[in-house]
Amino acid sequence: MEHSNFTQILSWTAVILLSTSYWFQIWKIHVHKEVRDLSMTYHILLALGFGILAYTAWLEGSTIFLVKQIATTIPVCIIIFQIIVHKEDRWHDDSDPYCNKCNAELELLWNSCPFCGEEKSEEQKQILYNAILKKNNE
Ligand SMILES: [Zn+2]
Repeated sequence: MEHSNFTQILSWTAVILLSTSYWFQIWKIHVHKEVRDLSMTYHILLALGFGILAYTAWLEGSTIFLVKQIATTIPVCIIIFQIIVHKEDRWHDDSDPYCNKCNAELELLWNSCPFCGEEKSEEQKQILYNAILKKNNE
């Protein structure tokens, strides 16, 4: 009895860990808007696989497996939705400076704007140095 309780706790812990993991990816996409590196095929196959297993878990009456499949299918579907929504978006970070000439968002490591050629101002370059300093101090 005790052994099976322990196994149950372990299994539910794994379900929580697995279903939570996808929300970290969702949050990253939400913050940075960059989805070009994410494979749509991979996420569609995951969603289909999880979805089918949710159905078979329901047929077999396995509560833990059903919860696990639903809790992973939902976030994977959200990622698919995010890939569609952010398909045309570029990398975004709140700390990134904007070009003084054309107002495009500039990534930290860029010295000049790739859209209009304007060089970053000294103040904007300072943001990069501060970010590097901050990272080195962590
Ligand atoms: Zn520019």
